[in-house]
Amino acid sequence: MAFSLVPKGENLWVGQFSLFAEDFLTHGISTRFGGVSRPPYDSLNLALQVGDETAAVLENRRRFVTALGLSAATICTPEQVHGSQVYQVKQEDAGRGAFSYAEAIPGTDALMTDVPNLPLFLCYADCTPVLLFDPVHRVVAIAHGGWKGTLQNIAARTVRAMEDSFGTKAAECLAAIGPAIGAECYEVGEETARFFRETYPASFSEVLQQENGHIRLNLALMNRRQLEAEGLLPERIDSAAVCTRCNAQVFYSYRAAGGKTGRIAAVIAIR
Ligand SMILES: [Zn+2]
Repeated sequence: MAFSLVPKGENLWVGQFSLFAEDFLTHGISTRFGGVSRPPYDSLNLALQVGDETAAVLENRRRFVTALGLSAATICTPEQVHGSQVYQVKQEDAGRGAFSYAEAIPGTDALMTDVPNLPLFLCYADCTPVLLFDPVHRVVAIAHGGWKGTLQNIAARTVRAMEDSFGTKAAECLAAIGPAIGAECYEVGEETARFFRETYPASFSEVLQQENGHIRLNLALMNRRQLEAEGLLPERIDSAAVCTRCNAQVFYSYRAAGGKTGRIAAVIAIR
């Protein structure tokens, strides 16, 4: 298993997992390169709600989504409120949030669909994106795991929603955890640490690293453990193991930028 940046021409790069077979689905993680946004959003900012010029974001989305062989006009985006709601995307949802943040699926942080060529589109900078694929029922999903979503077990909840709606079996699912802020760069407060300690007694000693009065949280590993607890097989879960903060010149990092920055996107669609 591997995560690598694949060149797509015009200084565009797409992060892809070898775990996901190209003949069944299309997926990718964007980088900062190849867009038209100006600092501090330079250059391929893909989020409409962060203060960048709308025209620039739409051009960036067009470039990136087109490079994946999909249409930017049909992407579907969640509002992303750091909650745990999962939404089933239907054909009529194509294009929701594509041109206006106000039209994104409200109150949701995870999307799933069995509709072909309907890209699920999640924007982030440091949070953990989890991409899911059920090759048996041909279903894809995407979940937004910031610390709040992760605390609420959003990745596992998404698998459960796939089970309820499509008959997905967790053991048949493939999961990929995208670039996110690494444990070495993600210091959290005592209260956040306590939430995880109380909610995940079996994993907290592994995902919370404490030294010299500093507590650091490994979000990617927490998401992996949650997926395993839900029944996914360890050998069917891949993790990019790339820190967005250490690589803020390649990906956007909310923490590295002190808040004002662009967003990369994770995209997945059934072929
Ligand atoms: Zn780092």
